[in-house]
Amino acid sequence: MKLMPKLIWPLLAVFFCIMGYFYGYWMPRYHEDAKKGYVAETSRHLESVAQGLVPLMLGSQLDVIYENLDALKETNPEWKEIFLKDKDGRELYPLAGVASSVYDPKVPIAEIKRPILIGDAELGQLTARVDLGPSIALQRQHLFELGVVFASLCLILLVSMIFLIETAVLIPVRNLSRASKALARRDFATPLPKATKDEIGALIETFAAMREARRSAEEELARSNEELEQFAYAASHDLREPLRMVGSYVTLIDRRYADTLDKDGREFLAFAKEGVLRMDQLIKDLLEYSRVGRVFEARSHFALQDVADEALQILALRVKETQACVELTEGFKSLPEVQGFRDELLRLMYNLIGNAVKYQPPDRKPLIVIDGHVDEDGFVVVAVKDNGIGIDKQYFDRIFQIFKRLHPRTEYEGSGIGLATCKKVVEHHGGRIWVESQPDQGSAFFFSLPQG
Ligand code: ADP
Repeated sequence: MKLMPKLIWPLLAVFFCIMGYFYGYWMPRYHEDAKKGYVAETSRHLESVAQGLVPLMLGSQLDVIYENLDALKETNPEWKEIFLKDKDGRELYPLAGVASSVYDPKVPIAEIKRPILIGDAELGQLTARVDLGPSIALQRQHLFELGVVFASLCLILLVSMIFLIETAVLIPVRNLSRASKALARRDFATPLPKATKDEIGALIETFAAMREARRSAEEELARSNEELEQFAYAASHDLREPLRMVGSYVTLIDRRYADTLDKDGREFLAFAKEGVLRMDQLIKDLLEYSRVGRVFEARSHFALQDVADEALQILALRVKETQACVELTEGFKSLPEVQGFRDELLRLMYNLIGNAVKYQPPDRKPLIVIDGHVDEDGFVVVAVKDNGIGIDKQYFDRIFQIFKRLHPRTEYEGSGIGLATCKKVVEHHGGRIWVESQPDQGSAFFFSLPQG
């Protein structure tokens, strides 16, 4: 789940809880209290009217009483009916025959009674039927306004929170993650968000310091690697020249004097020829290794399937001889293009497929599957799987080191440079390489590369 919904959902939950409390609990109570308050107030009003009627009742001034009660009804339209009874229960008001008010039966009515007292003696009883509708409508209006104000405040709060989270957290974090991904591709120039004076700002500053440290370490490493590689390149290049001379003279001796040599002599000569060939192969492999990263070609975009096809063409004879079966899965074929140095990646595929064909028990036909997918960081991941002799877990790191072999040459040919070259190629492209395997259970070599 993304950060924004993670932060906003609890806020919305709190909002709905408050609304639930407001409408489910607080509002009915407020209505009830307001109704009671209105009835109590009307009751006090009726009480004062009842007291005002006392002298009129004592003086039997019925006309004045009628006028007063008529006026009372007129000035208080929500008092729908007023009844006045004397102490014997006879109705004094409204006058018999006067039509009583007509009102909607659905109207909420409260009947309020007050005795008309002089001392402890009761002179009569005043009853008012009061329409609560206007008071309820007024309360509703107030509650509605309150609700609107509350909802608007919440909305403003929510929008401000979203804006704040977006600008203060999400945008800098997104930019930082973009810069981290770029850093994984050795791109040190991606602009960083401005460091604010808060935790996110501290994170940005730490990242910037880390990137700078890595940049200078890489520059230092690149400088010393460059020197080493130049040395290795020059040394291996120069070594080939005298070796070629040794090779041609050994061939010459073989051609001219082989007949004059005895059996041992011919055998020694054969060893010398083989030694020259091996040495030549070793120097060639070393040259290849030292060439990786020394950019001779431009970066380009291409499909890894084309590279695998080309590697298989070069290996066609070995594949045929060993009756190997090579399968390129749909996942591999549908991989997006990568960006990089085609010759280097060709060497990578060639070495991995070549090893998968080579490291097999003598009686087994190689079965090789080349699979691929895009991982969650957007890297293209390729797997070269075989059904060969497998590798013990303890050697997983060792086999990627130069000249490190697990088998004598009499068992499996090789110089111990292939996987070291693969590692160098993958790392030169900003990816990584690893192996999963078990002895005699086959091996799977994985490498990841950034997409083009
Ligand atoms: P080499 O030229 O000897 O093949 P590599 O660097 O390619 O050199 O391989 C190093 C070692 O890793 C090999 O000697 C071998 O023991 C082991 N290895 C490489 N690929 C495989 C594989 N597919 N299955 C089993 N072992 C392998």
